[in-house]
Amino acid sequence: MDLLPIFLNIRERACLVVGGGEVAYRKISLLLRAGGQVTAVAPEFDPQVLALQGNTTLRLLRAEFAPRHLDGALLVVAATDDTALNEKVSELARQRDLPVNVVDQPRLCSFIMPAIVDRTPIVIAISSGGSSPVLTRHLKELNEVMVPGRINNLASLLGSKRKAVKQSIASFNERIRFWESVLDSRIPELVYAGQEQSAEQSFDDFLAQWLDASAGEKPNACRGEVYLVGAGPGDPDLLTLRALRLMHKADVVLYDRLVSQEILAKLRPDAEKIHVGKQPKDHPVPQERINDLLVSHAREGKRVLRLKGGDPFIFGRGGEELAALSRSEIPFQVIPGITAASGCAAYAGIPLTHRDHAQSVRFLAGHLKQGELDLDWPHIIAEQQTLVFYMGLVGLPLICQKLIQHGMAASTEVAVVQQGTTRHQRVVTGTLESISGLVEQAGLQAPTLTIIGSVVSLHDELKWFKGDGSAQQQTE
Ligand code: SAH
Repeated sequence: MDLLPIFLNIRERACLVVGGGEVAYRKISLLLRAGGQVTAVAPEFDPQVLALQGNTTLRLLRAEFAPRHLDGALLVVAATDDTALNEKVSELARQRDLPVNVVDQPRLCSFIMPAIVDRTPIVIAISSGGSSPVLTRHLKELNEVMVPGRINNLASLLGSKRKAVKQSIASFNERIRFWESVLDSRIPELVYAGQEQSAEQSFDDFLAQWLDASAGEKPNACRGEVYLVGAGPGDPDLLTLRALRLMHKADVVLYDRLVSQEILAKLRPDAEKIHVGKQPKDHPVPQERINDLLVSHAREGKRVLRLKGGDPFIFGRGGEELAALSRSEIPFQVIPGITAASGCAAYAGIPLTHRDHAQSVRFLAGHLKQGELDLDWPHIIAEQQTLVFYMGLVGLPLICQKLIQHGMAASTEVAVVQQGTTRHQRVVTGTLESISGLVEQAGLQAPTLTIIGSVVSLHDELKWFKGDGSAQQQTE
């Protein structure tokens, strides 16, 4: 190891920053955030540094740097654009054995400032020892994405319980086993979902159970639970951070036909994967069977991921699955996803609402039952409204016919989007009168989404092409 990582307590300790420009500003802000008593020395200061002046722990000294400014300092940062001055500060600080950092000049530093992911009290510091700041930043971004946003709350909860646990569990090894069980339990997920009170209650219950149990029979905190997760319309980049985290956590995954291969590739490699996809007219796994599978796997103590295309609560039967879990007292959480309407509209350049075109949008199920579509047609037709039909490919001619029959202009614009947001996306546009023929001609395949209304006229202007081909769209 080239450098020793340490976390330094600078609270109320004197820190000297030489420099008053933008770089100095960043260092001053960081030192203030960590509670330092900061003195900045420079002949003049940038407006953003001056804006920090109200801070009682900051002193701005309008002066040329002089060796006496080092007196009493715990650490020194040189952040000027004058190389000779930076060298002088470094030299003088080293003579006094003061830790010194010279921005962007590793040779002159006795300590470096790492890239940080700040979820105080959790702080992750990353350094490449000056070899590649860009790589360090890249690692910081990865951490920003993967470390749960509320890990600070989890750290605070666990911190607040440390003393009590230490008092009640005397053995060091047993305490470690206890804490590991807590992290394996659903307590962290409760905190990440913002349910801190329930998390604290669960923690207290779990500790009580642990203390009640005899040595060989300590409770297993990892009770089964189900995550009902929306996987979005297809592009894996449209997964939410929480969806991705739970995908890495799940032991068993039940997924639908609409969940793309690229998304499945992000699952934990050793997770058991069960396809419960439904083909139209061909229901390989009935809903009751899916409900039973969810319950039985969770009862075995597993973390079960129910992965659905789009959003689980939009034409996803998510509500029915949750009802089954609730009846069986299985804990669950629901993670929303980007629904096909949002995904397809965005990638096709068709705003679902627009001040000049539509003030409301309506999501409808367009699948036929015994060749019929039982919808409240007179109420569906309204001015300044966008209609979005899910599951409407087979029924498209009937949908168009009914809308015209109930008074919608035959010239109303329609777009049909196939496999929206994926690299197979295709968009066919036409009117209520022409679209069925055009779609058939183009040979579009399910899944498709139908968007009806004058917003579709914006498609030509607003459609875009992704340079990397990952969501290239074709317009027929
Ligand atoms: N819960 C899902 C919808 C499930 S119903 C969601 O919120 O998106 C299935 C229908 O969704 C399909 O028949 C199709 O109409 C639509 N759909 C889902 N993904 C799609 C995609 N990538 N492109 C076009 N339509 C899609």
